[in-house]
Amino acid sequence: MSRILLFGCNGQVGWALARRLQRDFPLTALDSADADFTRPEELRAVVRAAQPQVIINAAAYTAVDQAEDNAEAALAVNARAPAVLAEAARGAGALLVHYSTDYVFDGTKGSPYTEDDPPSPLGVYGRSKLEGDLAIQESGAAYLIFRTQWVYGLRGRNFLLTMQRLLRERREVRVVGDQFGAPTWCGAIAAASAAILSGAGDDAAATLGGHSGLYNMTCGGETSWYGFAAAIRDRMAAAGEPVARLESIASAEYPTRAARPAHAVLDNTRLAETFGIGLPDWLEALDTALAGAQD
Ligand code: NDP
Repeated sequence: MSRILLFGCNGQVGWALARRLQRDFPLTALDSADADFTRPEELRAVVRAAQPQVIINAAAYTAVDQAEDNAEAALAVNARAPAVLAEAARGAGALLVHYSTDYVFDGTKGSPYTEDDPPSPLGVYGRSKLEGDLAIQESGAAYLIFRTQWVYGLRGRNFLLTMQRLLRERREVRVVGDQFGAPTWCGAIAAASAAILSGAGDDAAATLGGHSGLYNMTCGGETSWYGFAAAIRDRMAAAGEPVARLESIASAEYPTRAARPAHAVLDNTRLAETFGIGLPDWLEALDTALAGAQD
């Protein structure tokens, strides 16, 4: 199996990837203390030392609202560092696997976005991620960019954990009901990514290089943030926990520093047709995640 160098191993996706990949692959997993993406130039030496056949980048500046006031850091981590990794991957003949976001879209299309739809990000985070995607696409490296959304898991900072806490602490919780997407469990992203790499044999860059491209990768179906919260509340109530009342509100009633796309569901057809892979429906994945599964 290919030697893998993973960045961002303490994040939601990175953690799930590390657990899954270490079973089958020679894996070097690095966190922000090992490799600081705000100093992209230093990543070249890190890649050289590890001599990877696959570089996986699960690190990102993901604080969407803070990015509005920290554009320089967001751009370094989300755009310049991936550009350096792509250059290093090309130099080493390695495959680069990278993750992108639905926030590259403005959410006005009215139907699921395909990989060919033109991006139009609403904020700094989306713009910085888009710049990273474009740099990788133009680098000449063998690459797979998996575009996902609404990522959650049982650790880190995410909507599931926040909602569980609020539903326990408060009498009433108000949640936005007019933004739609597919909640996507980090374990499902890791499982799909690992399955694609496992199928590639000993030289992933050679085997998968011909499929270089952008692939949407989300759980199936769609809901609103309110719908996601209601599913979480239902499961807590079914387990006998006392839970708060939920109220659906409009985005206008919950102003945030960065604007969010209203309807940015992603069409996963290309992933299925190219790799024969599909992630589970979002409700099924939620049940699997809550059952404590690792992937
Ligand atoms: P997390 O926020 O959970 O983790 C991000 C990781 O990036 C952390 O391990 C963090 O390290 C690392 N990181 C942040 N800044 C730096 C830095 N300066 N140098 C090195 N590492 C750094 O992200 P997710 O797992 O949720 O996201 C994975 C990918 O999926 C990202 O590309 C993200 O853009 C994308 N994505 C995420 C979505 C979401 O809802 N979360 C939605 C759509 C796409 P540390 O913990 O040490 O700070």
